Amino acid sequence: MRGGLAVLAAVALVSGCTQGGDSEVRPAAGQQAGEKARKEARKAEPAAERRAQRRALVAAAKRWGLKKVPLTPPRPPAVKPTITTREGFEVDGHDSLPPVFTTVPTRQKVVFLTIDDGAEKDPAFLRMMSELKIPYTAFLSDYLVKEDYGYFRKMQAGGVTLNNHTLRHPYLPGLSYARQKREICGMQDVIEERYGKRPTLFRPPFGNYNEDTLRAARACGIRYAPIWNEEVFVDRWEYREWDRKIRPGDIVLSHFRGREDWKGTMPDMVRRFLNKITEEGYAVARLEDYL
Ligand SMILES: [Zn+2]
Repeated sequence: MRGGLAVLAAVALVSGCTQGGDSEVRPAAGQQAGEKARKEARKAEPAAERRAQRRALVAAAKRWGLKKVPLTPPRPPAVKPTITTREGFEVDGHDSLPPVFTTVPTRQKVVFLTIDDGAEKDPAFLRMMSELKIPYTAFLSDYLVKEDYGYFRKMQAGGVTLNNHTLRHPYLPGLSYARQKREICGMQDVIEERYGKRPTLFRPPFGNYNEDTLRAARACGIRYAPIWNEEVFVDRWEYREWDRKIRPGDIVLSHFRGREDWKGTMPDMVRRFLNKITEEGYAVARLEDYL
């Protein structure tokens, strides 16, 4: 039984954010094989399954115009890293507030993709991410999401965690504590009501916050305030670091935007993102697995 569980866990890891349970290993119905044959079948099937998944991934990478097949992320660390506020990003009392960070402390060659706001609702983007098995985390603002809650429900069904980016995307440090709390707790309520789960991650609009922001976020049930170290657009990358280099554990920001806002589509942005990080030997991991 333990062997069987381990095999299932390994397959689940490989299948990433696949939709549905079609990667699960099930014994063939009505099979009369003895215990030994069954054991061997269990050993062989995952290998065959992995080969089939690999072929599908290679085909998807080609179909979506990637230069290389995206790398499979390593298993997340058994012991979660300790997340603290990045130096220079502290507010008074930050030790007891949700940490603000741009990079997850890890030596693994992984980056985390986070996508904000929610203006563009491109079905091709959902297909692309699902077929390429690329995890990402969404930070949603209700004034854009409410145009089509269903789009983000499909995203959630594909394994994406929907997180808090306020109701109306204001410049939070310009608001009182009470109004900031309404923006953050209000979005917690919307996400819980529409998607059944209260987020634990919050990203302040524009990355701007003050002590009140983080106190309000904590009061609304938020545990982490990830911002970003790079931002990827359809036509370029922008970097926080002076040397313009990607580092292990970096959080990368992008936006749900389409041709109205930039010269290309969501798949164009993902292509730019994946081509660069794959070339540099990075895999995309799921942020929630490290928190
Ligand atoms: Zn935003």
